[in-house]
Amino acid sequence: MDDIKKPLTPLQLQRISELEHMSPSQWDALCRRCGMCCLIKMGAGRHKILYTRLCCENLDCSTQLCKVYSTRFCQTNVLCEKVTIKTILEGELLPASCAYVEYVFGPARHAAKVDFANVSPLNSYKLSRLSFSELMRFAIRDSIRWGRY
Ligand code: SF4
Ligand code: SF4
Repeated sequence: MDDIKKPLTPLQLQRISELEHMSPSQWDALCRRCGMCCLIKMGAGRHKILYTRLCCENLDCSTQLCKVYSTRFCQTNVLCEKVTIKTILEGELLPASCAYVEYVFGPARHAAKVDFANVSPLNSYKLSRLSFSELMRFAIRDSIRWGRY
């Protein structure tokens, strides 16, 4: 997708600057707690991410909240990445419908619908033992996202 190479617009640069100057509480308040960034994803071609119905073992699927939020980066066996300006711009970790991505790039063109009642937690040990084809069985077919669009 060539869109991903487009230079950032002045408005997008302004939004990034605003994010950079937010206090930790302002930054946290932006998050919608949708749980999408805690789903296990697979690279599926250039600028293409496939979401699965599997999630980090620390996600409470009934609330879509992290059960270990304050200590999430100290956990062992955890698939957790900090949301930063870099991850917002790269588009690998976050869906286009993420509040941080939308803050910079505007409303997502399409937002994946995920029924968290059908999502299962999986720890990284078990994940590392799943083959690609086994993982594909959990792929969410309608949520392929190209780059940050
Ligand atoms: S540890 Fe990280 S990836 Fe896992 S549920 Fe918590 S915030 Fe999400
Ligand atoms: S995808 Fe974005 S809005 Fe949703 S929980 Fe993750 S950081 Fe928050």
